[in-house]
This record gives sequence, structure tokens and C-alpha cells, in this order.
Amino acid sequence: MSEQRARISRRISSVAESATLAIDAKAKALKASGVDVIGFGAGEPDFPTPTNIVEAAAKACADPRNHRYTPAAGLPELREAIAAKTKRDSGYEITAGNTVVTNGGKHAIYNAFATILDPGDEVLIPEPYWTTYPEAVKLAGGVPVFVPSTLEGGFKVTPADLDRYRTGRTKMALFVSPSNPSGAVYNEDETRNFAEFCATNDLWIMSDEIYEHLTYDGEVAHSVVNYDPRGLENIIVVNGVAKTYAMTGWRVGWIVAAKDVIAAAANLQSQQTSNVSNIPQRATIEALNGDQGAVATMRSAFDRRRQTITKLLNEIEGVKCPLPKGAFYVYPDVTSLVGRSFNGVRPANTSQLAEVILDQAKVAVVPGEAFGTPGYFRFSYALSDTDLEEGISRIAKLVSESSE
Ligand code: PMP
Repeated sequence: MSEQRARISRRISSVAESATLAIDAKAKALKASGVDVIGFGAGEPDFPTPTNIVEAAAKACADPRNHRYTPAAGLPELREAIAAKTKRDSGYEITAGNTVVTNGGKHAIYNAFATILDPGDEVLIPEPYWTTYPEAVKLAGGVPVFVPSTLEGGFKVTPADLDRYRTGRTKMALFVSPSNPSGAVYNEDETRNFAEFCATNDLWIMSDEIYEHLTYDGEVAHSVVNYDPRGLENIIVVNGVAKTYAMTGWRVGWIVAAKDVIAAAANLQSQQTSNVSNIPQRATIEALNGDQGAVATMRSAFDRRRQTITKLLNEIEGVKCPLPKGAFYVYPDVTSLVGRSFNGVRPANTSQLAEVILDQAKVAVVPGEAFGTPGYFRFSYALSDTDLEEGISRIAKLVSESSE
């Protein structure tokens, strides 16, 4: 075979494995083999999906309407429900024609980039970033450009930061509030500044609003759509039910955008996946239109765990953990643990430190390398209170037994 002809395409070879899913898989495999592992890896609520949603799905299974192909862009009733939910939660008017239903938020992100980017178009991605964004940009032919932030700055980027990395090829900027992995939430002024910067510089915005309902201490997730003078014209909102309704396995997400963008994204989907499975779509109609009580109940459990984990982590010498305002992650600085000796093993970076912690303390965490910022660990606190306390106390013990 000629050297020019790669066995696996260059496009796909350039995609990195999802580090968070890899760590979660390793932890689950260890668990399956009988090892008592505590996993802080996956961004997945430990709650079951609320009963009203499960019952709507069970009912949908028995209805022959759901046994057939349905429109690629989504069930009309669900698209209506997304429009109504957008008005209720974000305060702006759209119609069903501004929505397309996708196989989860991740699929929405892929299709949004694929719909907007041409080869060489640059996308500004604030660091630390969720692992999927740069890979999705690359697959769409685009170029991820990373914009650093700092712990002191609350892991948020300003217009000046964005401007430093903007070039003539920048087409889009990514806005994620609350953020994975940092839990940062942009306040109203910061949201306005971001939106106005993009409008002034003729940039598209991708706004990932999947954690919109998980904010604490009175913080609110503001939608950029309300602050961009262009309205929805150059914004693609991606969202889904995974985090808000404990529905990670159901795989339903959506895009909200201008009608021409939606028509293009729906065309893509008609050749790619056809409709999202009808049963989860019916369940999602109930999630969005039904009683929202479970959302608040889960949020208060996350809030309690957020405070517990931050306190426990800050009690460990060498760990600096800010109290995040949203999502269900903490993102502490653990640089001072790098280079210490853990039973004779000296990790040289936080990636190796995470391996030591999994091997020796049987606790899975995701190192900052996965999010573009070595020196940090991401802990998901969407696990039970008892596992949370046990997991952190194992790390505390390991650290207390380590030496210079
Ligand atoms: N956006 C962010 C920031 C996320 O953390 C996740 C899940 N980890 C998603 C989107 C996608 O969620 P899903 O595909 O499960 O709907």
C-alpha cells in the first residue's frame, strides 16, 4: 500500500479518545472485577430518571405511531416543547422551526460545528474546556484555538482574552456557562460582554447550555441570545436532557438556531441518523412539559455535595479548591502533589498522579490534561454522599502518607 494511503483516515486518526469516558471505563472495569473503586470520573447524575418521564416512555413503547420513522428534525410535539421551554427558561421567543432534535448534546455539538465551519475556520475555545469540543471542531474541518483562563479569574474569559486569540480566520467562539470542568458561571455583565464582543467582531457563538439548571448560591445561567444585538441570527444553542433530568442514557439533545441553520442541520441529520429514537423523544416531551419538581430536588442534593467536596478537598494539604457556582464538578489545583512520593512512585504530572490515585487509593479522577490545563483534577460530585466522603478520605489518607 502506498505511503500516501493511510489505513485509518487522517481525519479520524487525529481524533483523541474521550479521556473522561476512558477513565470511567477503566474504573467500571476494575469495579466489575471486584475492586472497590470510587469513581469521580463521569459527568453523570446518580439519580434514576424521574418516574413521570419513565412512565411516558413505557406508554410510548406500546403506541404503534412510535414504531415508524418520524421526521429527521424531531417529533413536531417535541420541537414545540423545546420552543416553549426556551421561552420559559431563557425568556426569548422561538418557534418549532428554530429547533432540531439530536441524539444527545454531544451530537448537537458535532452537527452544529459541521453546519457552520468550513475547512480552516477557527473556533475560540476557553480553557479549561470539555474534551469533546476541540475534537468536534477538527472533525468538522475547523481549527480549535484555545483561550487561557485562570483560577484567580474564576476560569472565565474576557473580551480582551478573546481578542488576543482572534485572527482573520476566526469564525466562532464557544460559550459554556455553567462550565464543564470548572463549574464557572458567567454573571450578567460577563455574558453581555462576551455576546457584544462576538457581535462587534462578526463571530458566531456556540452556546452550550446543558448545565443551565445547575447553578448555586443564587447564580443564574444567562443565555447569550438575550445579550447579542443580532439575536439568534449568529448563535447556535446546544442543550439536552442528560444533566437536568438524570437522562444521560436516553440520548436526547437539541439545537436552537436561526431557521436557515436549522434547515441545514436537519438536512445533515436526514442523511446521517434520521430521526432520534421516538421513545426517548416522547419521554423528553414529558421531561420538558411535565412537573419540574425533580430538577430542584436533584439540584439541592448537588448543592450539598458541592459544599462537602470543596470543604473536604481544601482540608488536604496541597489542594486548592475554589467553590464552583454551577454544574456538578469541582476543579482543584493539585500541582503541589506532583513530584511527591506515593509508596515509592513519583508522578511527574497530574496525568500520572491520577493513575497513582486509581492504583493506590482506588479512586478515579480526571486529570486536567484532558481539559487542556495540566495541574488540576476534575471531580464530578454527582455521586452518592457516602461514596463522595469515602473517596475523598481515601485520597486524603494517601496524600498524608506520601513524602517529599
Ligand atoms: N456539553 C457539556 C459541557 C457536557 O459536559 C456534556 C456531557 N458530559 C454534554 C454537552 C453532552 O451531553 P449528552 O451528549 O450526554 O447530552
